[in-house]
Amino acid sequence: MRLILLGPPGAGKGTQAKLITKKYNIPQVSTGDILRKAVADKTPLGIKAKSYMDAGGLVPDEVVIGIIENRLKESDCKSGYILDGFPRTTAQAEALSKNLKKMSAEIDHVIDIDVDYDELIKRLTGRRTCRKCGEGFHLSFNPPKKDGICDRCGGELYQRDDDKEETIYKRFKVYQEQSTQLKSYYSKNGRFHSIKGTGSIEDIFNKVVSVLEA
Ligand code: ADP
Ligand code: ADP
Ligand code: ZN
Repeated sequence: MRLILLGPPGAGKGTQAKLITKKYNIPQVSTGDILRKAVADKTPLGIKAKSYMDAGGLVPDEVVIGIIENRLKESDCKSGYILDGFPRTTAQAEALSKNLKKMSAEIDHVIDIDVDYDELIKRLTGRRTCRKCGEGFHLSFNPPKKDGICDRCGGELYQRDDDKEETIYKRFKVYQEQSTQLKSYYSKNGRFHSIKGTGSIEDIFNKVVSVLEA
């Protein structure tokens, strides 16, 4: 099963991807996670990507396309994957289609999670992430049992640099600029589903599962 999760920053793509991974045993492939690791490790890729990410803009297409092509070749992606945060532009979507064709593979479902800006702001300003295992939390909506500590692995929780209000607005604008074309690209092939992303994490996961099992 190959899936794409679309939606604005803070829609819950990462949260849902982790639940899908648990239930269906396919890996979450997040370009944001890959890029943040490269930034933390100060690799040449990370050094190149950092300024775009800090400003809330997109990392150039050719950079992220290269990342994804390499990642999808790894053995854990053989029986499927969840793309979280890729593609974000039509150029990325076209590159992915080309790459899939080469591998005689296709995307089974594209799920768009729709959440409005007022809710996104609340979600992103309260978002906390585990430095060690990447598990996501929210200070009010999904709090850890112990302040600042990951329930799953005991790691330290941190707030992303780009989850500040002014950067959130910039990221949301960038999303709006790209998403109409991107959604229409995927609407053409009949595997596009849009779901309302408001409600509990569990409610939304139930909607995702109904799409996957329809
Ligand atoms: P994305 O990957 O789309 O940027 P995340 O999955 O990181 O979004 O979610 C953003 C924040 O919102 C996180 O703190 C997460 O715990 C919280 N969150 C996710 N889904 C919901 C939901 N349905 N209701 C309330 N908060 C949510
Ligand atoms: P969110 O979870 O809030 O949707 P991500 O973690 O997916 O955000 O992305 C964080 C940042 O990484 C983006 O603001 C952008 O700078 C960069 N990035 C991630 N994925 C892509 C992509 N597919 N194309 C370009 N830039 C990307
Ligand atoms: Zn953890």
